[in-house]
Amino acid sequence: MSARFTGKVAIVTGSSSGIGQSIAVRLASEGASVVIDYHSNPEGAEETQKKIAAAGGGKTITVKADVTIMDDVKNLVEQAWQQLGSCDILVNNAGVEKHAPFWEATESDYDLVLGTNLKAPFFLTQRFVQKLMEAKKPGRVINISSVHEDMVFPNFASYCAAKGGIRMLMRDLAMELGPLGITVNNVAPGAINTPINASLLEDKPKLNALLNNIPLGRLGTPEDVASLVAFLASDEAAYVTGSTYFVDGGLIRNYKEQ
Ligand code: NAD
Repeated sequence: MSARFTGKVAIVTGSSSGIGQSIAVRLASEGASVVIDYHSNPEGAEETQKKIAAAGGGKTITVKADVTIMDDVKNLVEQAWQQLGSCDILVNNAGVEKHAPFWEATESDYDLVLGTNLKAPFFLTQRFVQKLMEAKKPGRVINISSVHEDMVFPNFASYCAAKGGIRMLMRDLAMELGPLGITVNNVAPGAINTPINASLLEDKPKLNALLNNIPLGRLGTPEDVASLVAFLASDEAAYVTGSTYFVDGGLIRNYKEQ
């Protein structure tokens, strides 16, 4: 694969599994040095590191950072600069969802979902931008949002609130950060085959109903998402900012308000 990211440094949050792991492997396999962030799964981070090595990818460092903890957020960006000398690309990927009818949703689940999916990208991006401003460098921010930044998801109200929030955060930051040469975009996956969907994958009737709503007739793979992220992080997307790009097999086009 060509080395589009030689000399670039990328942070990928939540890169010990699923989509984040594939993004880390993809960027590194095209020459980026990558900060692998993990929360509670060091084995997964090691697996990411091994996959990158097997792909002949760039340099990696592994940092344990819970993105809901602001000191960890600061340290994650610091480690990129201290150990890899820069940080050009930030992929806000870490995410969680909690299932509950609205009237049963708890404050702690709300705080976890909003903290991980919205507050963390807000302050991680802020720290990323502060460091770029000091260094007078351009940069790329890519948020992994979801079709649910736009499409309802009954029983996942906090997840919808967070992903809807990151849609407007991205639009606002594209305006504020454009003059600094920093682009900001969202990648919105549909149904992707990852651990976050473990219970859906085991529920055949539910899975088949979902597949019937996906024009391309299959779930997405983490690699489907990673290739779009790689495009947005590359020089080919130099003039692209302030939008959401869906990678969902057409699911969102097949969607009607319920
Ligand atoms: P996943 O569960 O494999 O990945 C989530 C990652 O986030 C894990 O590595 C986890 O450790 C990490 N994480 C969670 N809380 C964290 C914290 N506090 N600090 C640091 N890391 C933390 O699932 P995935 O499908 O790969 O999800 C990745 C992103 O894609 C999420 O933002 C999710 O909302 C989004 N997404 C996934 C799908 C899908 O169908 N899989 C669809 C739309 C959007």
